Amino acid sequence: MPNLLILGGTTEANALAKSVADQGIPATYSYAGRVDNPRSQPVPMRVGGFGGAAGLARYIHEHGVSHVVDATHPFAAQMSRNAVDACARAATPLAALTRPAWVAQDGDNWQHVPDIEAAVEALAGPARRVFLAVGRMHLHDFAAQPQHHYLLRLVDDPDALPLPKSDVIVSRGPFSVEEDRALMERHHTQLIVSKNAGGTGARAKLDAARALGLPVLMIDRPTLPKRTELANVTQVLDWLAHT
Ligand code: NAP
Repeated sequence: MPNLLILGGTTEANALAKSVADQGIPATYSYAGRVDNPRSQPVPMRVGGFGGAAGLARYIHEHGVSHVVDATHPFAAQMSRNAVDACARAATPLAALTRPAWVAQDGDNWQHVPDIEAAVEALAGPARRVFLAVGRMHLHDFAAQPQHHYLLRLVDDPDALPLPKSDVIVSRGPFSVEEDRALMERHHTQLIVSKNAGGTGARAKLDAARALGLPVLMIDRPTLPKRTELANVTQVLDWLAHT
């Protein structure tokens, strides 16, 4: 019987947890502990960092983990690099449950930047009303462009904000195109800043931007080491059965 460790925090990881629970496959779901009330899962959960690649290798060994599925967000690059390193050390099979990056369609007006730093630089210039959809962890980087009025959508109410002019919406996805369109109209949004997360959970803002003819500053994904990449839960279950 496998004993699966799911590195989670995404819609895709939640779907995998549901499937393995339904099939009675032993699994543990790991959260980093970034949000106040993580969504409850149908398999046992653990919360908090492992202590780098060495800590994860130790965890795998001590808990008899047979397979690791990295279903973290495409921008959780440190965790993904640690998973590759730890699984190599522990000689434990690793697969990533990934989702394709979003691709611009007709009517989209995207400017691509390679990382957060480049996104901050690209915001130099006159004040605009910016929907900054990058999550709480990177807000401090945008303090270098304090002239803009930022619309922020966060999972938890922030204690303090590094941005002098901002509106905060506390809400957890998935979001609909109609809601996002209405949100941007209400806030007179002129530009959207987005990570190229892929998947469906956060896609609505891009469809809303196209409908409103608004430009998007798209932050491309970090490069990750080579690993087995699977596109959906069925592929993960097949991999578990055959590896
Ligand atoms: P990160 O920068 O790659 O990870 C930093 C450290 O956080 C890791 O080295 C690890 O600590 C710990 N960590 C990250 N994910 C973990 C997990 N699932 N279980 C246990 N420890 C974890 O990660 P991040 O970008 O801050 O993302 C953190 C979590 O939020 C992930 O679960 C990710 O799926 C989710 N998330 C991220 C984004 C995003 O835009 N980055 C968006 C939505 C959800 P140790 O080195 O101590 O093990």
